[in-house]
Amino acid sequence: MKPLIIAINAKFIHTNNAIRLLKVNSTHEIDLLEFTIKDSIEDILNAIKGYNPLFIGFSTYIWNVKMVKTLAKEIMHTPVVLGGPEVSYDPSYFLTYADIIVKGEGEHVFDAIVEHYKYDKPLDDVPSISTNLVNNPIEEIKDLNTLTMPYTLEEDRPHLNHKIAYIESSRGCPYKCSYCLSSLEKKVRFFNPETVKSSILYLMENGAKTFKFLDRTFNANKQMFELIDFIIDHHIEGTVFQFEITGDTLDPKIVYYIHDHAPKNLFRFEIGIQSTNEETNLLVDRVQNNEKLFSIIKLIESKKIIDLHLDLIAGLPKEDLARFKDTFDQVYTLGSKELQLGFLKMLRGTKIRYQAELFDYHYESEAPYEIIQNRWLTQQDIQTIKNAETMLNIVHNKGFFGLYLWEIIMDYFDSSFDFFDALYHHFKSSNTPLLHYQLDEVFKTVESFLTLQHLPIEKVEQLRIIYLKRSKVRPKVYFELIKDKQVKKHIYTQLTYYHPINVFYKNALVLKVSDGYVVALYQNMQAYLYKVTKKESYLL
Ligand code: SF4
Repeated sequence: MKPLIIAINAKFIHTNNAIRLLKVNSTHEIDLLEFTIKDSIEDILNAIKGYNPLFIGFSTYIWNVKMVKTLAKEIMHTPVVLGGPEVSYDPSYFLTYADIIVKGEGEHVFDAIVEHYKYDKPLDDVPSISTNLVNNPIEEIKDLNTLTMPYTLEEDRPHLNHKIAYIESSRGCPYKCSYCLSSLEKKVRFFNPETVKSSILYLMENGAKTFKFLDRTFNANKQMFELIDFIIDHHIEGTVFQFEITGDTLDPKIVYYIHDHAPKNLFRFEIGIQSTNEETNLLVDRVQNNEKLFSIIKLIESKKIIDLHLDLIAGLPKEDLARFKDTFDQVYTLGSKELQLGFLKMLRGTKIRYQAELFDYHYESEAPYEIIQNRWLTQQDIQTIKNAETMLNIVHNKGFFGLYLWEIIMDYFDSSFDFFDALYHHFKSSNTPLLHYQLDEVFKTVESFLTLQHLPIEKVEQLRIIYLKRSKVRPKVYFELIKDKQVKKHIYTQLTYYHPINVFYKNALVLKVSDGYVVALYQNMQAYLYKVTKKESYLL
């Protein structure tokens, strides 16, 4: 009999490295099964029926813990072992669902569990294990270079080109933010950079396009420069490498080097700012120099070579609605292409969860344990922030407007947070759907909002031009177009320098703007926009 280890991923494009690491580092044979949270409990149970396992293990995270608990309750006559970050710091709770909890890393203790079930060997001296009889402290793997890498399983090869490739160059984080599970790991340890490089080469040669480093703070790795340089030299066109970075400690030399040597968007940096309030950061044990952080972000943004993603967390201590707006406004000003606004999760085992009473936190009792309110934010305040987040995602993070709306907000509004809040209410009063919307509905609603705010007409008209330009084929439009044949003939005649007139008749749309006309021509899955005024005509 073999162990059966199950992963339930958040999305199809995700790959669970943890279960693969167990397989390739065990001296025993192991069966793996991988699902997503879209699969039904029934389907997973049916798949399990095809095996007669020694025990069933689940890789447990906040996104799948609800399903894992349901499955564990359904599994009869087979021992259940749970591992993963969700169960690692609250074993007594999870022992009501399982026979063994593996806390922290599992590669170095997995064989002992197999031998416990195979040969009845005791678990008394096995580190990082909790059962109803033993509760042994977590022991981290001292030398990560004793591990075999999980990337080269033959059965994974055909799928590498449509999955995210998760890579580790280190484990652990040097920081101790009180809301974060990584703060509970003891030491930062590193993989040999040569191993990381050969993994990247193998994955790239077999079709992987998107690489996400799992390192909690990639720039804690002294080999960062060497790895960045290797990626620049060896990357295949179209690949993307994503890293989580601590901004204020990032060496500007690395940014300059990337600016000088890397192609646009080869690298994506994710920087967690969370809060700019120093009192807040002090209360969550977060060390952050805002001045240095902002300056490095501005440096990164100065060339638009690195794709930048910033994160904020709402619901941290001492950050009421007014102070959160300040954080949001300061960070939005930085102009990153994506700004993710998350809500504090009171994760099992974290210091902040133990401090819940101290700060009057109320949070969901089930994963993801999101904040409901605290001493500084009422439920209504949180709803206000969620409304702004909804708009931020629709009109900024989706990229429909590029950075045009960001420029408008910077030029005409005092607070970006208030802009998103007001826009949310305008969407609601216009009955524009916030889910399953059409692009023309979004543009129309933003346009009517800006008109109500008395923005100059040419600024508002620019939205129509962006809308026409971003389509590859003739789009469905939300505004009046010029249909008069005589007017069109007059306009097209002025553009025959670019294309024969019949091409315009067949594939173009004409929009009236305050100082003339915009002609949008759709050919070969591309939009060409021309401006025709009384004096001149030119390509936009
Ligand atoms: S939030 Fe980031 S910096 Fe802080 S402990 Fe977690 S991983 Fe480390």
